[in-house]
Amino acid sequence: MDFTFSPELERLRQTMRAFTEQEVKPLAGQIDRRGEVPRGLIARLAELGCFGLPFPTEYGGGGLGELGYCVMMEELGHGCASVSATVAAHVSIGVTAIALDGGEALKRAYLPALCRGEKLAAYALTEAGAGSDAGAMRTAARDAGEAFLLNGEKMFITNGGFADVITTFAVTDAAKRSRGGITCFVVEAAWPGVSTASVGEKMGLRGSSTTFVRYDNVRVPKENVVGQVGAGFRTAMRTQDIGRLSIAATALGATKEVLALCRAHAAQQPYRGKPLAEQQIIQFMLADIAANVYAIESMLYRCAWMADAGMPFTREASITKMLASDMQDRVIDLGLQIQGAAGVRVGSTLERFYRDARISRIFEGTNEIQRLVIARDVLQRGAG
Ligand SMILES: Cc1cc2nc3c(=O)[nH]c(=O)nc-3n(C[C@H](O)[C@H](O)[C@H](O)COP(=O)(O)OP(=O)(O)OC[C@H]3O[C@@H](n4cnc5c(N)ncnc54)[C@H](O)[C@@H]3O)c2cc1C
Repeated sequence: MDFTFSPELERLRQTMRAFTEQEVKPLAGQIDRRGEVPRGLIARLAELGCFGLPFPTEYGGGGLGELGYCVMMEELGHGCASVSATVAAHVSIGVTAIALDGGEALKRAYLPALCRGEKLAAYALTEAGAGSDAGAMRTAARDAGEAFLLNGEKMFITNGGFADVITTFAVTDAAKRSRGGITCFVVEAAWPGVSTASVGEKMGLRGSSTTFVRYDNVRVPKENVVGQVGAGFRTAMRTQDIGRLSIAATALGATKEVLALCRAHAAQQPYRGKPLAEQQIIQFMLADIAANVYAIESMLYRCAWMADAGMPFTREASITKMLASDMQDRVIDLGLQIQGAAGVRVGSTLERFYRDARISRIFEGTNEIQRLVIARDVLQRGAG
């Protein structure tokens, strides 16, 4: 077993670390307050190759796979979860669905501009009443000869406010639904009949765009079916295995940041004439944080390595997402305890991290749904 990162991934880490330190962290408070990621920062992410990093070079991607993707997301996670969510919705779900299951012509048509970040993507699966039970979606696509006619409404779609391409799931056979009756389409936001509206303010990830997407008789050419008609639910599930790595990678960056902030705070905060860090109870909290960070890191990179090796990793992705998001909440809570009143002031890093992190147990499949996925895999494939 070799756990070292390649020199290429180490260089990527250094680049992303400097970018996060110099260009993301100074804007994080403003992004949270104003409720948007500045276009200039999105342009810089594109310049750095963030929007195509894991995808094959033949389609304009960076060719760095899921390991590279996780390194990038870990470093961004130190700075601002709204920026991480913007990148993740594009890369790990919006574009990944096309890259995984799209036919050659579709990939050639869309991936290069998406990888360069000239176009941005969203991923539209969830609807009101069809979140955990995505198979209950009502958005439908009717075969109208040369095209499908798409009607319905999606909800809670990250990047919906500015995405050019919306990877959209719709029912094509109501009798079959998740068993061969859902199809994935590449829909362009500029097409007639597509409209979006904000879902309103959120407690966290406030800088990340979250919208409804409406489809009113949208004509989708048949070439824009991702893979086969009826195979969309499988595409969604395969895509979300990758998407779950985003949550853990962001959690890893955030929890490492908490450890660094709390170590510094404990070292300089006086208590009875000595640094707070000399109190054993504070040391135990730092130890718990460090142990959780190590566990997230170990799970995440093993899982990313499995994905790149082409191994099945559905169970591992769910375990990693579930435990990493649980641990992230615990770590940030411990961090707030160490920082005391300073941490709870609105505008402090930990206060923002606390609100942002809470969403990680909900999106990309709630942690209850991860347990169902894990249990199903255990029962079908054995203890492992
Ligand atoms: C900020 C944000 C961004 C998002 N971005 C996207 C996006 O880009 N694209 C997209 O398609 N979706 C997106 N989502 C939607 C997200 O994936 C859903 O919120 C999530 O799948 C849960 O669905 P729900 O909110 O409808 O909750 P529900 O499905 O209504 O669940 C409510 C509760 O019931 C529990 N529950 C439901 N079913 C079961 C069961 N069978 N067994 C046990 N417990 C169960 C859940 O775990 C949860 O605790 C986003 C959500 C948020 C908050």
